[in-house]
Amino acid sequence: MTDIDLEPVFLLLALKNRKCFSCGTTQSPQWRRSQYHDAIKDRFLLCNACGLKSAKGQFCSYCLRVYYLSSEEEYVTCDRCGKHDHASCAEFVGRNHTPYRCKSHYELESL
Ligand SMILES: [Zn+2]
Ligand SMILES: [Zn+2]
Ligand SMILES: [Zn+2]
Repeated sequence: MTDIDLEPVFLLLALKNRKCFSCGTTQSPQWRRSQYHDAIKDRFLLCNACGLKSAKGQFCSYCLRVYYLSSEEEYVTCDRCGKHDHASCAEFVGRNHTPYRCKSHYELESL
């Protein structure tokens, strides 16, 4: 037996433990690291579909989960940039004001 024979087993085990932080799937043709929270990026491993959306900024500012607007969750939309965040997350941090500002615009404008 050579070392080469062992390699796929390790790969398989590594893949088996992978779980998308956002949607919870354990099945993905490709895994992506989220660009936010780089220091703890392994916690924020994303499946292929969520990774693509995350790269386009389609994630909630507060819980960092990628959103699918067709889902049943409620969203608030930033008055400045049109970014969506979960209504429940914005409410949790007390920022569900009208007109709504996303996290970065809220911080910019409250300086
Ligand atoms: Zn996912
Ligand atoms: Zn959220
Ligand atoms: Zn904004």
